[in-house]
Amino acid sequence: MPAITNHMPTAELQALDAAHHMHPFTTNNELAERGARVITRAEGVYLTDSEGNEILDGMAGLWCVNIGYGRTEMADVAARQMMELPYYNTFFMTTHVPAIALAQEITKLAPEGLNHVFFASSGSEANDTNIRMVRTYWAEKGHPEKTHIISRKNAYHGSSVGSGSLGGMSYMHAQGGMPIPGIHHINQPDWWGEGGEMTPEEFGIARARELEEKILELGEEKVAAFIAEPVQGAGGVIVPPDSYWPEIQRICDKYNILLIADEVICGFGRTGNWFGSQTMGLRPHIMTIAKGLSSGYQPIGGSIVCDEVAEVIGAAEFNHGYTYSGHPVAAAVAMENLRILQEENVLDHVRTVAAPALKTALESLTGHPLVGDLAIEGMMASLPLTPHKESRAKFATDKGTVGYICRERCFANNLVMRHVGDRMIVSPPLIITPEEIDVLITRARRALNETHAELK
Ligand code: PLP
Repeated sequence: MPAITNHMPTAELQALDAAHHMHPFTTNNELAERGARVITRAEGVYLTDSEGNEILDGMAGLWCVNIGYGRTEMADVAARQMMELPYYNTFFMTTHVPAIALAQEITKLAPEGLNHVFFASSGSEANDTNIRMVRTYWAEKGHPEKTHIISRKNAYHGSSVGSGSLGGMSYMHAQGGMPIPGIHHINQPDWWGEGGEMTPEEFGIARARELEEKILELGEEKVAAFIAEPVQGAGGVIVPPDSYWPEIQRICDKYNILLIADEVICGFGRTGNWFGSQTMGLRPHIMTIAKGLSSGYQPIGGSIVCDEVAEVIGAAEFNHGYTYSGHPVAAAVAMENLRILQEENVLDHVRTVAAPALKTALESLTGHPLVGDLAIEGMMASLPLTPHKESRAKFATDKGTVGYICRERCFANNLVMRHVGDRMIVSPPLIITPEEIDVLITRARRALNETHAELK
């Protein structure tokens, strides 16, 4: 069998990729014409591509490589675990040390009362678990009619049919029969995009009250849960106004609705605390985790569950699970990631060095003619691009064309930034240094200037 290696010419790798590999969230026929960027190595915050370019990864992969690339300890742990016990399942009254240790460690870091972990291999799987878990919880409590789940438009909770239904992405719902019945979407707290003439505080309250209206419309006795990201990530880094979360919490408490905080992006330090729920002052019953749990070195996710829900679910057999729930290699690698985050004080670095430096640096871009605002929470930030700052106007195309151009100009300047519509997103590895942030900003400014020039 001829080996395919990093040493092959880029064009050959691209041709083979186009011939056989279907990419997620990609127009694959277009990709076949232009050829995929081939990433060959990574170290710290830098990626290397097959042309030898050193690209600063301003997105930590897909918001996940919290400790940065190239940590050999992670590889060593994986190798050791593969030699000792490469796989065993956690079904049928069986367990193993990596799953025991990781579950205990996660619950030590989680807010009080969240003492149980159900493992999955991704955020999507974990959110599918959550759908079944909250419905089963209410059924076991004698309320089988409490099945409806409320989420938000423009939320992202994953790509499986269940989690994609929880999400509020209309372009996803347009394909493949989503959302499934029983999932409802209220408006998001996006003041920049949708706040109109209201102050952010008024708008936060108004958007939170939509939850109450939806509960009353559906009937309190039919609503199982509300799910939300503490800070929406893939929706464009929507940092809600300060008034939003306290009002949501009040409503969930008043109507006895389970609160699911989707921490897949916010978790494990990205907002400067272990969880975004702590940053935003939430008291969730369940938290979805993935990404930063292993810094992306292994696929692993899960649901952290409060005592009450775990106890009720535990009374009968929960007919749910994945072959790789608590996979020993993934669990051991995640455990090593948590060790690194703790022993190297990465959260302190975020709070005292990286997040303040990122904020100051990004603020320097808000004077750019295309940049309308800066939304930032810890190491998650977005810059909405606009033709007119004062009115928060959208570009005439309103299809993210300007954001797309800017993302391409970022790539051309060896920087990964993502675009969500016309918002440019930054969410680098948590270990990024101020010097690296300077490089990020220099490249971002160049990309913005080139985008501006292209629009004229
Ligand atoms: N939840 C949130 C908030 C996410 O951002 C994502 C992925 O981006 C997911 C769930 C889905 O996670 P996964 O891609 O691991 O299935």
